[in-house]
Amino acid sequence: MPNWSIHLIVPLLALLIASRKENHKYILLLLPFAVLPDLDTLLAQHRALLHNIFLPLIVLIPVLFIKEKKTLFMIASAYLASHVLLDMFQGGVVLFYPFYNEMAFVDASLQLSKGNELLWTFDYGFTDYAAGWETAYGYITDSAGTGAMFFVFLAYICISYRNWQERRH
Ligand SMILES: [Zn+2]
Repeated sequence: MPNWSIHLIVPLLALLIASRKENHKYILLLLPFAVLPDLDTLLAQHRALLHNIFLPLIVLIPVLFIKEKKTLFMIASAYLASHVLLDMFQGGVVLFYPFYNEMAFVDASLQLSKGNELLWTFDYGFTDYAAGWETAYGYITDSAGTGAMFFVFLAYICISYRNWQERRH
């Protein structure tokens, strides 16, 4: 998996850039949705149960029926979709689970070989949903990811402190 830092930072930035300022607080509040799909690591069917195209779509359903707070559901859906998309670029996800149990993947990389040659890889398609993914041993977050989470956590503390200070004055 792209580590959690990537899962958090990429959609956070994208949403902050793309949204109106009045939605910024919802974007911060709903940030945990960016890593929520990885809960399926604990439930088996990792990269399938919560890593598919249907979950972000289901979360969007209330938007059709309610008028207020639509944005909340749209932000949550964007976070979930970003997780699925990013995982597609690293390993793959069972995009149409439970209807089609193959992993959709995109492989796009640029590397420098030992002979200083640039190696560009671009491949996409469907591949077997191997048992290694299902059990997901060894996958939750790597050290860099944990460091990044700590950094985000610090930011939350800072913003809470600032809000508390502002309320006092
Ligand atoms: Zn994931």
